[in-house]
Amino acid sequence: MSNPSILILPGDGIGPEVMAEVRKIIGWFGDKRDIQFDVSEDLVGGSAYDAHGTPLHDDTMAKAQEVDAVLLGAVGGPKYDDLDFSVKPERGLLRLRKEMDLYSNLRPAQCFDALADFSSLKTDVVAGLDIMIVRELTSGVYFGEPRGIFEEGNERVGINTQRYTESEIERAARSAFELAMRRNKKLCSMEKANVMESGILWREVVTRVGAEYPEVELSHMYADNGAMQLVRWPKQFDVILTDNLFGDLLSDCAAMLTGSLGMLPSASLGAPMANGRPKALYEPVHGSAPDIAGQGKANPIACILSFAMALRYSFDQGAEADRLEKAVEKVLADGVRTADLLGEEGVTPVSTSEMGDAVIGAL
Ligand code: ATP
Ligand code: MG
Repeated sequence: MSNPSILILPGDGIGPEVMAEVRKIIGWFGDKRDIQFDVSEDLVGGSAYDAHGTPLHDDTMAKAQEVDAVLLGAVGGPKYDDLDFSVKPERGLLRLRKEMDLYSNLRPAQCFDALADFSSLKTDVVAGLDIMIVRELTSGVYFGEPRGIFEEGNERVGINTQRYTESEIERAARSAFELAMRRNKKLCSMEKANVMESGILWREVVTRVGAEYPEVELSHMYADNGAMQLVRWPKQFDVILTDNLFGDLLSDCAAMLTGSLGMLPSASLGAPMANGRPKALYEPVHGSAPDIAGQGKANPIACILSFAMALRYSFDQGAEADRLEKAVEKVLADGVRTADLLGEEGVTPVSTSEMGDAVIGAL
């Protein structure tokens, strides 16, 4: 059997810098654990525009459809701000998500103990937090028709439509229940069934899918209360399932309970392929960070943890994913810090590649 395949799309800004560290780690898994991947690399975003005049070449799109997992760095930057909307770097990423039909967006919010009392991050982090938000990513109010700005009488009206089919809800719910089974078998679904028909249907379908997972403790919450509870007592949650709009807000909110943007991974999953693995794209939550690009300052941990998610969700290597996450924990516990994690006076930050090397040392 051939090795599982990975397409690396480093992208722009700090994307290539953080991805270089992931490449080292992939190499480590090959050398030391004999876990081999067929790795190929291509362009996305501004770098693809520079080379091909499009933020995602058709050949790259075709490759992404074939591989077992795509790892993406980040796209965009000031150089591309004035480009036409249709060729903006972000359009490359949107095309990947859309054509791969990645409907389930997994955003963990996990707080590492070593960063738990980091008041200098100017963020109140929640020690011990470990939750996962599953956001439906390809439907809902961001896509529903009709949409637009229309003339109505003597004024204009802006219209978006929240629209969910049963099958769209069902497949997102299924991916969240599968995840809950791998974690702590606890799932809270959030909608606004009190004021929205899409919410009523959402609750009904999630309940129906939940009957297939009797081991999972399922609860429902109105999303506004969910936001409140997330701030009030986040540890009551394990997996949260929600729609595209509410998930956009709730996942950013949850993310900030953990500290720095440089720490947050994500996965976007689609339907199972012929080999049973889901279509998958893994990427850090942060963007291309043009303010620090090219300076060797970027924190590669978000990208490294995104690869850990790939090990777990695309390659059935849960134990190796744990190993990688523990190595990150160890490095942080040892006090190794990139500049974004710096609080204490007198601590010298390490560079992007020194952080990558430290993780490999801990592995
Ligand atoms: P996008 O529009 O692509 O989401 P953004 O402008 O919202 O981008 P980022 O590019 O993520 O946000 O950057 C926000 C801030 O966080 C910047 O000051 C950036 O330097 C910092 N930052 C983001 N990622 C990292 C990282 N991996 N390491 C260190 N700092 C980071
Ligand atoms: Mg942003």
